[in-house]
Amino acid sequence: MEIGVFEYEKAMRLNDMAVFVWDLETDTMAFNHGMEGIFPFALPREKVSDYLLHSRIIHLHDRARFVELVRGVREKWQPRSGDKQQVLQLDFRIYAGKRRYKWLHLAGTVEWKEERHRVVSGFIQNVDRDRRHLHTLTRQLEKDSMTGLYSKSYTPQLVNKILQRGGRHALLVLDLDHFKEVNDHLGHHVGDAVILDMALYFRKIFRRTDVLGHIGGDEFAMLLREVEDRQQIYDKCTQIRNCLRRKYAHDNIEINVSASIGVALYPEHGEKYEILFQRADSALYAAKQAGRDRAVIYEQGEIAKVTVHANVQVEEKRAVTDNTSFALLLENPPRYMLNLVMQSADTSLTVQILLEIFAKHFHVDRAYVFWNIDGMHWPRPIFDYASAECKPLTMAHDGSVRRQMYKRLKKTPFGMVSECRDTSCLPSSAGTVFASHRIRAYIAVEVMDGGRFSGSVGFDVCNRPHAWTDSEREVLHCFAEIMRRFLFGQIYYERMKKRGSLDF
Ligand code: GH3
Ligand code: MG
Repeated sequence: MEIGVFEYEKAMRLNDMAVFVWDLETDTMAFNHGMEGIFPFALPREKVSDYLLHSRIIHLHDRARFVELVRGVREKWQPRSGDKQQVLQLDFRIYAGKRRYKWLHLAGTVEWKEERHRVVSGFIQNVDRDRRHLHTLTRQLEKDSMTGLYSKSYTPQLVNKILQRGGRHALLVLDLDHFKEVNDHLGHHVGDAVILDMALYFRKIFRRTDVLGHIGGDEFAMLLREVEDRQQIYDKCTQIRNCLRRKYAHDNIEINVSASIGVALYPEHGEKYEILFQRADSALYAAKQAGRDRAVIYEQGEIAKVTVHANVQVEEKRAVTDNTSFALLLENPPRYMLNLVMQSADTSLTVQILLEIFAKHFHVDRAYVFWNIDGMHWPRPIFDYASAECKPLTMAHDGSVRRQMYKRLKKTPFGMVSECRDTSCLPSSAGTVFASHRIRAYIAVEVMDGGRFSGSVGFDVCNRPHAWTDSEREVLHCFAEIMRRFLFGQIYYERMKKRGSLDF
């Protein structure tokens, strides 16, 4: 069987490929039809290098390599004795419209035909899908699936890359105190959620340029970049410890979680992550020995104790199951919530932890659940989370606020929802009520039970407008369903058991 032009064209079209021949002396190019599908703009057949070098269709980050390749071939390349060809390869991004670039792969051969006469022939292929897939895989390896922070293997690489550029930085190694008790009393899944909750705090309180790594079960490594003095580091550590300190009460047991931090300074204590880590870890050990819930900056002479500490941790690590991971939280928040609620030993605590996780994840200031206990006229708050910047729920949601919210209830695919992205745009009677309670944006989903309002779950934002997304509506809707179907009865029972009365 012969392969004709038609078959060549078809094979190239199916593989998103085009062939070209580029005469460098006359700067003209010939190519087949496939090029039209690959280049979003008509590629000229004359003055080709002028066009490629001066138009802005090549991505800024790839332009220098592209220019070097074209100039190299046009101006510098000379065959060595007997050398008639040179192979070229380049991956680069080209503008594809609508603020998008796509990846192309160019492979060609430069041939020396006669003196000063060079021709490049080759092909260009659209490799956008492969490159993006590769990029996603690489990013996945860089990130830890439980928390979404940098992974144990990638954190050292990234920190070392940053250290090469100099500056004054601090490496913090943080380990939660008494974390085993959370697992023992509340179950591993709730333990995972607490770790995720902590990780979301880190995102809030560190700068975007700092490096945040989750390097073990309850252990984190952070690079605080461009620090000025020790006081700044101590202040940051105090801020972190204050955010992480928690008390969980379960079955008459009180679990106190806090964080100990060891710090090593760059370049004073070492020039590489590995050395800095060893030293910060030794300071961490000193912090644990001194009673936990504190930060210690490395001083000479404590390294010997570290090994024992490190070994204990390695033995106790367990495989991470990802049914409560950050990846699942992003992909399928309702599934994440259900998994956690189903597997927890304490429903009330789990709802509280979930509220905190979602409040931080969506960057809202307040998250709450109201419950209309025994058909009382006004529902009462049973869970709430409020960021440090805003008033507590009981002060922010009085009867006047809730009345305004009820007035705006609408039937939606996410249930009965009342929402407003900017209360300062509401008519003045309503606007004043929200303004006096410092609620700038809100969303509340009603918990309906047999046509009766039995409670509501919602988020508030205090100081700025907030455009609510379907993902946020879906999470609240799911909270409402979980509350209705499983939890109100169970929480009522748990509280009765704990307090020996029905009084909330
Ligand atoms: P210390 O105050 O000395 O730090 O004691 P600790 O109870 O926090 O225990 P330690 O740091 O020595 O060990 C970490 C514990 O964290 C051991 C294990 O029970 C738990 N753990 C380790 N990996 C995971 C994980 O992926 N998920 C959960 N839920 N727990 C983990
Ligand atoms: Mg610990």
